[in-house]
Amino acid sequence: MTSLLYQIPLAQLEAFRGRDLIVRSALPNHLVAQVRDEDFANLAYIQLCELPGDIDALMHWAEAIPIDLPMRHPARDFTSLYRYAKLLNNHPVRVSLPVEAGFENAVKLASSLHFQIRLLLGQPQPARIDALAHLLEDYLHRPRVTQPIEPFHSLLLGFCHAQPVSLWAIQEEDPKLIRHIDDQGQEHLPGRLAETNAETGAETDQGLIFEDFVATWSNRLLAENAECADCPFLSACQGYFKWPERDYDCTGVKALFDTLKQAGDELRQDLAAASPGAGAGP
Ligand code: SF4
Repeated sequence: MTSLLYQIPLAQLEAFRGRDLIVRSALPNHLVAQVRDEDFANLAYIQLCELPGDIDALMHWAEAIPIDLPMRHPARDFTSLYRYAKLLNNHPVRVSLPVEAGFENAVKLASSLHFQIRLLLGQPQPARIDALAHLLEDYLHRPRVTQPIEPFHSLLLGFCHAQPVSLWAIQEEDPKLIRHIDDQGQEHLPGRLAETNAETGAETDQGLIFEDFVATWSNRLLAENAECADCPFLSACQGYFKWPERDYDCTGVKALFDTLKQAGDELRQDLAAASPGAGAGP
């Protein structure tokens, strides 16, 4: 059974020490001072909030510990990636950014600098769907993209190997797997759910409890005979794109799923053809 991952502020490290953690801070010097060697075994990654100016303290600290850079305003901040590229010498570094106007420039630069990328998809509008489709095309067919772009990467592997995948899990938004801890130590739903927590409190009271949130949500959409009811990608998506606006039109995201499914099928066939013995006669 997978243990729960807690996404905590550095100030809560003492209280959560020993559990599986993502530790966030805007102050690299404080991370270096307070995260101990014995914490590394339980540390999934550290998250640098607010794109800190001075990252030198991290350069030779905790080598190979992954770092996440949340870029809240990709169109404005993407050139700052040049400053963080030196971290790649000693750490896997992922840039997490929202799919909003201008995000594609940030993705292209991050890819060319060899950062991993996590796209915070939300409910992408039609103009962003076009940009996502172009990025996906690049990801699938341009060899210069060498690092994973999530959720494309995990969905592609899932389709290729015909294994179950969950978009909620890939996006680190399944409350069964991960919890967000605030500065006061209070537990919240993760990712974009944390932001809508207050508004959706009533729904939480109705049964969208933490552990069963995703199953309850997707079952509710099915019971309402929402668009998900006959969606071929329900098992991977589980109503991800119907949150929070249930009337979100999934035409665009289903086309992205379809591209990934076709690419996964082709990859599986290519791997089978290339495996030892393929094509050998009796
Ligand atoms: S892609 Fe849209 S319709 Fe399909 S399962 Fe996801 S949210 Fe439902």
